[in-house]
Amino acid sequence: MQAALRTRLLPGAPVITTTIVVVAAALLLAAGQGRVDAVSATPTTGPWRLLLMGALHGGLLTVLFWRARQVAHERTVWSRIAAGAAIIAGAVPLAVLLGLSPDTRDAAVALTLWAPVAAFPLVYGGLVRWNRFSTNLADPNDTLNGASAVLAVVALVTLVLQLDSGSALPTSPTGPLPVVAGFAVEFVILGTVATLPFLGNMGRDPRTWLVLGSFGVSFAGDTATLVSGARPGTWAWVVEPIAVACLALAAVLRPGRAEPQPADPTASTIGAFVVILASTGVLLVAALHGVGGPTTWCAALAATGSGVRLLVNVRELAVLAVTRREALTDELTGLANRRAMLRRMDELAGEGTPLALALLDLDKFKDVNDALGHAAGDHLLRMVATRLETVLRPGDLLARLGGDEFAVLAPLDSPLGDSALALGRRLHDRLAEPFPIEGMVIHSAASVGLTVSPGGEGSASPTQLLREADVAMYDAKRTASGPALYDSARHAGSSGNLALVADLRAALTGDELVLHHQPQLDVTTGRPVGVEALVRWQHPVRGLLGPGEFLPLAEVHGLMGTLTEVVLGRAVAQAAEWHRRGLDLRMSVNLSASNLLDAGLPGRVAELLAAHGLPAERLILEVTESVLLTDPDRSIAVVRRLADLGAGVSIDDFGTGYSSLAYLRDLPVAELKLDRSFTADLLTDERTEAIVSSTVELAHRLGLRVVAEGVEQPETFSYLQALGCDLSQGFLHSRPLPAEQFEEWLTRSPAVAR
Ligand code: C2E
Ligand code: CA
Ligand code: CA
Repeated sequence: MQAALRTRLLPGAPVITTTIVVVAAALLLAAGQGRVDAVSATPTTGPWRLLLMGALHGGLLTVLFWRARQVAHERTVWSRIAAGAAIIAGAVPLAVLLGLSPDTRDAAVALTLWAPVAAFPLVYGGLVRWNRFSTNLADPNDTLNGASAVLAVVALVTLVLQLDSGSALPTSPTGPLPVVAGFAVEFVILGTVATLPFLGNMGRDPRTWLVLGSFGVSFAGDTATLVSGARPGTWAWVVEPIAVACLALAAVLRPGRAEPQPADPTASTIGAFVVILASTGVLLVAALHGVGGPTTWCAALAATGSGVRLLVNVRELAVLAVTRREALTDELTGLANRRAMLRRMDELAGEGTPLALALLDLDKFKDVNDALGHAAGDHLLRMVATRLETVLRPGDLLARLGGDEFAVLAPLDSPLGDSALALGRRLHDRLAEPFPIEGMVIHSAASVGLTVSPGGEGSASPTQLLREADVAMYDAKRTASGPALYDSARHAGSSGNLALVADLRAALTGDELVLHHQPQLDVTTGRPVGVEALVRWQHPVRGLLGPGEFLPLAEVHGLMGTLTEVVLGRAVAQAAEWHRRGLDLRMSVNLSASNLLDAGLPGRVAELLAAHGLPAERLILEVTESVLLTDPDRSIAVVRRLADLGAGVSIDDFGTGYSSLAYLRDLPVAELKLDRSFTADLLTDERTEAIVSSTVELAHRLGLRVVAEGVEQPETFSYLQALGCDLSQGFLHSRPLPAEQFEEWLTRSPAVAR
């Protein structure tokens, strides 16, 4: 029992407590004598009494100030209560001095009576801080409210007293006014203290009950004095030791497990309203009965104070409404934000509703943002939001989770993957249509990942669902084949994007990225004349990853520049080595959208070529049409400077773009790479054949060579020969191979030109 008590006390508390208990006991013992003294003598005189009073207050002050230094997070509370107590205690010796002379005896009495009123703002300020912490909207320490409440109570009590006695109140400094004011102060403090155990979970903290007890006892004593018309301080001998003991005990106990609540303007608005009503009532009754003086003054001041407070609150509430709304909406698009989304998921989970969650990530957002600036990026996001809204059904929630990531939460009638996929397809198709931005046409399709929750018992948590949708979205981005639905069997092992991005950052500085080389053969001679460098990631856990599995991530997370640097470095070094060994092979390297927006790239390529001693024309840089069109001005400038170095520029995946051929006229292009899809259909589809043959013709007339990609059949190769295509690349000749294996392959193939 003792041990249990000790653990509840603050360290060092026992010494302090013992002192207080001794003092309080002495006071209680003296109570009988004191009562006699109090009735017979002037309250402020009597050295015995004053000595004990001083000891009691001195002890309490010591505890309170000691307490204020102990626990940092409650420092405001206890230091203010202590300061208030110091004012009350400090008035005692001063009153003793004044009480020595009969001339100043009244002043002495007035001093002891007004001291609690002077201490009020401090004590009130401390107490309201105990269970409420200030927010940027509302400060619980609204002394204006407290003071107005005190004035209202003073007005009310003086009114009652005057109506009762039928005469005006005497205004002497020791008269009833300071007594009433002291009573009012205690009343308001008690009201404030009474909220402590009841607000939030503060009731679990026994100290709140002790403080309530302390102020409750004081208030009861003073009410008894006032009602019985006894001399002020009559009950002090019983009341003060108990009140002091309760407060001191509260001060030495450890803080309980209770959390203060954020201050909210609503509470003080209600308080101010009550004060206005009460003081208006007092003013009306006073006017009817011709009562004036302090009553009307106090009532008028109270009403004014609360009125001001109310005006301030109206403003605060308006601001609060705005912040509440903003806390749940995305500023840019006005859609729900992540918090609102999670909240809705919780609600649906509570109802046991099956749901589908779709995550969307724009594929080209970073390019648009980089190339056209943030204003254009923001514009695109707003257009995406407006467009996605048209796809929703009533009850669906569209949210922007941040950046270019959107989410749709759709309650379902039944948790069918089919209906989820249908939603995914609607979202995907709606975004596949181009966006007009700044006079350009931007294609910014999105990758859509979906997951479903059956609702009810055992459903996944919101965070788990978001993770699943993220994994599915990443799969969609990787395979680029439309929306993907999370499948626990297939996706359980993958930890989503974020872990992989972190790994990729590390891989870029290590040697986990490797190049595979796929030969390009001269169609007429059948001899290898070049290779395409294709990047792979030897992941320590996941094994060898293809470019589709990490390039989209690198692009989205701004790692493409570094990645290309690494690839270019390796490819140029390799080509230079072959060059030294007399192997006459061009080296093709793929560039991505962000590379072409990097004005520093040509300079770095020139340095690389010089450092390795590789002739520029041995390096071919492959760019796709869509990349060129993201920001034609900037990317074309970069391409020109690359060509000026002497490096060849090749248009990759030619024929898959929606672009005009105009850039072929303006750009120093050396080569076209016919997309795999044409090669695959060449033998079976007449229209494809027509396109391929006329493309070859056009390219030759423009002085370009044509590379056919994805050549898998010998028949295709023969047909390409017949069409006059220049180079052939594909599994028919070789899969992309690591350098060593590629060199082995070379030894088996028709000799390379030396
Ligand atoms: P790409 O530039 O069109 O590269 C050709 C892709 O076709 C390679 O896939 C290659 O393995 C594959 N391929 C070659 N011959 C055949 C064939 O006969 N049949 C079929 N079905 N496929 C064939 P890979 O290596 O998976 O690369 C995919 C894409 O990743 C590349 O498409 C390229 O756009 C990108 N990529 C690869 N390495 C890099 C790089 O270092 N930087 C950049 N920016 N992109 C790269
Ligand atoms: Ca390529
Ligand atoms: Ca290609």
